[in-house]
Amino acid sequence: MAPAFMVGSRAFCYDLPLILKRVYMSPYDLHCHSKVSDGTLSPRELVLRAHEQGVKVLALTDHDDMRGLAEARVAAQECGIELISGVEVSVTWGGNTVHIVGLQVDPAHEQIVAGLQRNRAGRAERAQKIAEALAKLGIAGALEGAYAFAENKELIGRSHFARFLVDKGHVRNIKAVFKKYLVKGKPGYVHHEWASLPEAVEWIRQAGGMAVLAHPGRYLMGKDKRHLLFEEFKAAGGAAVEVVCGSHTPDQIPVYADLAQEFGLYASVGSDFHAPGENNRELGKLPPLPERCRPVWSAW
Ligand code: AMP
Ligand code: MN
Ligand code: MN
Ligand code: MN
Repeated sequence: MAPAFMVGSRAFCYDLPLILKRVYMSPYDLHCHSKVSDGTLSPRELVLRAHEQGVKVLALTDHDDMRGLAEARVAAQECGIELISGVEVSVTWGGNTVHIVGLQVDPAHEQIVAGLQRNRAGRAERAQKIAEALAKLGIAGALEGAYAFAENKELIGRSHFARFLVDKGHVRNIKAVFKKYLVKGKPGYVHHEWASLPEAVEWIRQAGGMAVLAHPGRYLMGKDKRHLLFEEFKAAGGAAVEVVCGSHTPDQIPVYADLAQEFGLYASVGSDFHAPGENNRELGKLPPLPERCRPVWSAW
């Protein structure tokens, strides 16, 4: 018999794991990565996995590259999932790296294609510097090691270094590697100047898309600076903010739902899935948006 449990004075007698799975299932997942950037699945594998998980509308949002969308679209047509053309643009704002997701973006639009190409061009040089910094700490072979994890060499990034460091046993998991080596203030962090915030929003808008401020709860900045980020994002033409996402804790959801309302922004939902078993994330495994939010898809 299924276990009984109490909520307040009411007794429930359901299969608890099944309930949790239901609670944490969203038909929309508007943020994820394939190995065209720093995910580990091919675009096709990613779409099929999302379908298996029960996702109905999926946006593939690789970092600074939209070349996975064509393959994803073929797979989406096969399994009947709705695919949204997306991208996650790296931006430097106020000395922080900020990510802007574009949804419903034309992947062939000249301006964004050129902009993303420019963002990618700096990655090789930064990778070299990260490897040099790690070598100084006694970690040899990081450049080749990281490249071995990067299917798309133009997109070499910190996640590839992180996987190399875990693989070699320097750190026990991805989260710990970032904390120890790869975030701002740590020895393997190398500053890089990405696109500006207005540029990224403009590229997305010109390509017919909506700009979404990604995982705002992840940026290491105080309340005032965060407020300024929202102001400048809105002024630049930003349309939405991720309220429910893989890196938000349950108590951050209402905070960003409030900010979405305050700034007249739509609310988005995305797992930021990268790899099976990594960072405890799964496609579509997300709680619902608070009722007061205007979902980004209501604008489509
Ligand atoms: P990059 O664009 O090369 O600077 O890499 C950024 C990527 O690193 C993000 O998209 C995440 O996939 C990953 N990342 C950044 N910070 C963390 C963190 N604290 N824990 C796990 N992954 C992270
Ligand atoms: Mn990533
Ligand atoms: Mn991101
Ligand atoms: Mn992401």
